[in-house]
Amino acid sequence: MIVLGVESSCDETGLALYDTERGLLAHALHSQIAMHQEYGGVVPELASRDHIRRTLPLLHQVISEAQIQKQDIDAIAYTQGPGLAGALLVGASFACGLGMALDKPILGVHHLEGHLLSPLLASQPPEFPFIALLVSGGHTQLMRVDGVGQYQLLGETLDDAAGEAFDKSAKLLGLSYPGGPAISKLAESGDPAIHQFPRPMLHSKDFNFSFSGLKTAVLTAVKKYPPDMSESDKANVARGFVDAIVDVLVAKCVTAMKQSGLKRLVIAGGVGANRQLRLALNAAAAKKRFQVFYPELEFCTDNGAMIAFAGAMRLKKNPTLATRDFAFNVRPRWPLHELTAA
Ligand code: ATP
Ligand code: MG
Ligand code: FE
Repeated sequence: MIVLGVESSCDETGLALYDTERGLLAHALHSQIAMHQEYGGVVPELASRDHIRRTLPLLHQVISEAQIQKQDIDAIAYTQGPGLAGALLVGASFACGLGMALDKPILGVHHLEGHLLSPLLASQPPEFPFIALLVSGGHTQLMRVDGVGQYQLLGETLDDAAGEAFDKSAKLLGLSYPGGPAISKLAESGDPAIHQFPRPMLHSKDFNFSFSGLKTAVLTAVKKYPPDMSESDKANVARGFVDAIVDVLVAKCVTAMKQSGLKRLVIAGGVGANRQLRLALNAAAAKKRFQVFYPELEFCTDNGAMIAFAGAMRLKKNPTLATRDFAFNVRPRWPLHELTAA
């Protein structure tokens, strides 16, 4: 079964073809980062318009890369939510139109389920059950995952998401959007002894997170410097920030591993690409004797492959989930726990 995946929930247009027999056949991505950069964040209207421009050329690209015909597609999975309403509507209407034209069924996929299952696309995928840390631009959640559609929320952020904390702190240091990768790189040359930022909720005895106070601590630190802050001063602040956020994320993962008794930890979402987080998690895993799995770097942030894959996994369990009822309906707000098991 060949599933076409269409991702358009935010500022990346991603298309991919996943074959349940042969694996990932092709994937293509267009990132709008450069377009939104001058505004310091995603402009929803511009995002929607750009998705419209990109979807069809990307479809042709993956079809030709995979060396298949459009008619070989068995089902079309699109991101139904959560995300920006206008951006989601582009992918949903594209999937409907294509499904109608080709007479193929369509399936709405939960964007976070896409992220959550993305590590299974790696060459050495984890087996169920596992603990998952989802750290993206809009979410920070710890979950127990027993199978496709079987997600138990252990805890989540009470305010900012981890990716959001990275981006906002980066902005305070004058780095351009999205600042996550930039602040991480800057932190590498920083001195860890200069700034000791708070580790919010480190000892809260639950699996919740809070990152808005950390962002405020970064702001307070930045304000103590003259406006033309030197690169090394910025690097020291960046280092203090990264060390604090990584400490909290790793500590909660270690506790979840211990409490659950599970031996596999899976990281998903854009912040999962972070080098310092990966190093710290690997060290903790070696010490506490559990395994940690990551998505391929290119599948940490938004992409079509994870949507094609999540769609394929659902359809494998329950083929009737795909429909030829082309009345599409996007869900900009859609908590993962409202997602039914496949
Ligand atoms: P959501 O999936 O919750 O709707 P999103 O799709 O915007 O949000 P992702 O695409 O998973 O989120 O991830 C984007 C986030 O990941 C951004 O906040 C970005 O700064 C962050 N990010 C990406 N690479 C890195 C990195 N190397 N270090 C830290 N943060 C990173
Ligand atoms: Mg993005
Ligand atoms: Fe995402």
